[in-house]
Amino acid sequence: MVAENDSLPISLVLHTVFCPRRTWLEINGENTDTYQMQAGHSAHRKVDDPKTSRSEQIRSLDVRSSTMGIHGRIDVIENKNDSVRIVEYKATPVKLKPIVTEANKVQLALQQICLEESGFEVDQAAVRFVDHNKNVIVEIDDATKQHAISIVRDTREIISASEAPLPLEDDKRCSRCSHIDVCLPDERRGEPIARRINASDPDGQVLHLTEQGSRASTRAGRLIVSHQGEKSGEVPLERVHGVVVHGNIDLSGALIRELLWRNQVIVWCSSTGRVYGWSQPTDGPNGPLALISV
Ligand code: SF4
Repeated sequence: MVAENDSLPISLVLHTVFCPRRTWLEINGENTDTYQMQAGHSAHRKVDDPKTSRSEQIRSLDVRSSTMGIHGRIDVIENKNDSVRIVEYKATPVKLKPIVTEANKVQLALQQICLEESGFEVDQAAVRFVDHNKNVIVEIDDATKQHAISIVRDTREIISASEAPLPLEDDKRCSRCSHIDVCLPDERRGEPIARRINASDPDGQVLHLTEQGSRASTRAGRLIVSHQGEKSGEVPLERVHGVVVHGNIDLSGALIRELLWRNQVIVWCSSTGRVYGWSQPTDGPNGPLALISV
């Protein structure tokens, strides 16, 4: 729990950009370990060890601004003569365009404010889309900084409120929100549930398996779901960027291996969405050193 006058984590401020209710849920202990969170961790894996820093590239640097009352961590700072460049690492499915979001801009602006307060001159900010192997330069002007500061102010108001802001109404953000399982936006509004989890969402990259007693396997480059011996759905593996298993659903060993090989995360949840755990693909196709030989 963060007190009203405490320093705010920049990561918490970014929840406000997405949805004020999510900030309130997060600060009140309803944090979640979901596919989105795990994908975010994977994107940072290469830069989250400060010991791997070099003189021209500082990794995983903790920063703070005491005047703003915020703190956070910057993935990479590149030294350029008298100035520095900030680089944030993000995971975005290859099939989606590498687009800089409002949250990315707010994050970079707040990081820049922290660095400038520590005496750095920030020359440039960029987002590195790890799945696309691409850097996108982000312009942080005064208007962007002022907007970021206003979001910090909003966040303080949200966390000092005794009640959560109302859920969004029929908003597509909810279907990709990491907190939907604890927020329950449709139920909270007391309306019939119009949105449902689909076995395959054509616009989404994450496959949710929900049919209890079913089995998912792979054949000829496709993920196949069957129930009581009958095929109930299939999707090309190319379109699957992660799998969330809700409840009593079996995955074949071949499918698990294939998803690990493709560096895709599998998350196992209860049928009500509580996360039990997730798979951890290795960085490269050959994996770490084998520990057991037979
Ligand atoms: S599920 Fe929707 S309303 Fe609830 S926190 Fe997420 S985005 Fe906000």
